[in-house]
Order: sequence, then C-alpha cells, then structure tokens
Amino acid sequence: MKIFENKIVTLIVLPVITLVIGSLIYDWVKEVPLFTLIADVVKTIWYGLIWFLNIELRLWWVIIFLMMLSFIIYLIIKMGKTDMKNAFPYRNYTSDMINGIYWTWKWNLTPDEVTLTNLKANCPRDKTPLIEANLYARHSHECPRCGSLYYDVDSNKVGVIIADNANKGIYTKNDLI
Ligand SMILES: [Zn+2]
Repeated sequence: MKIFENKIVTLIVLPVITLVIGSLIYDWVKEVPLFTLIADVVKTIWYGLIWFLNIELRLWWVIIFLMMLSFIIYLIIKMGKTDMKNAFPYRNYTSDMINGIYWTWKWNLTPDEVTLTNLKANCPRDKTPLIEANLYARHSHECPRCGSLYYDVDSNKVGVIIADNANKGIYTKNDLI
C-alpha cells in the first residue's frame, strides 16, 4: 500500500503542485517587461518538460533498457564474486599428504567465513577412503581395498594443520590444479 500511495504522490500530487507553482511564477514573470527573456527560457523549459513527459514509450525501448540493466547487475555480481575468489587463494588446496595419510576435504564458502568440511583420510597407496579398524590402538584405521593398517589417524589434529597451512600459504603449487 505504501508504494501505491507513493505512486499517487509521484504521479498526481507532485505534477499538480509543479503546475500551480509554475503557472504562478509564469504569470508573475510575464507582467515584468525586464523578465521577458527569463520568461521565454522558463516557457521553453516548461514546454520541454511537458514534451518529455508525453514521449510515447516503445516496448522495445523498455526491453533494451531492461536488458542493459540486467547486464549491468550481472557485471556487478560477477565482480563481487571475483573479489571473493581473490580473497580466498587456497580454494583449490583440497588434498595433501600429512603424516603418511592422503587427506582430502572441501572448503565451505559463506559470506562470513570459510570452513573446512568433508575431511577424509585416504590410503596413500590407492587413495581409497579409510575405515576405522577394530583395534585397541587409538585412531587406528585400515584400508578396505589393500588392508593396510594406519595408526594415529586423527582428523581433528589434521584439520588444524590444514587450516594453518591455508592461512600461512604453506601448500605446494602442484595441489592448485
Ligand atoms: Zn589401500
């Protein structure tokens, strides 16, 4: 409703006020001979304004205008995304060999922060995801493909190391393919 009311103000009330004030100024100006030139200028501007407000819009003008507007908005959004990518140089650092295990993960990008997700320990021989081994040793894992056993596979520790590597820029360029 507010928008509708504002439209009424814009479409009806403002032009009426402008018309009344414009007429008063015109009447005052035309009675003073010295102001004939100014009166002509005001008249010209006034008729120009009326002419401008009476332009018949062609549909294709509107379509072209909307297309240009969409293109400009698209460019602005694209530039914003490029900035975010530049501020996130380790986006392709998603795998690393740490303490004899091949780790893979993803970066979750939100407007506020970047978080490490989907961290997985993989067998360094065949890159198969490891499963927890039924052993008494803490954090022991085994490869379901080749049966190799690995000890001290601690994703909490490794997550901290990966985040630290990313913050310090410690990762080989080979990872950034
Ligand atoms: Zn294996």
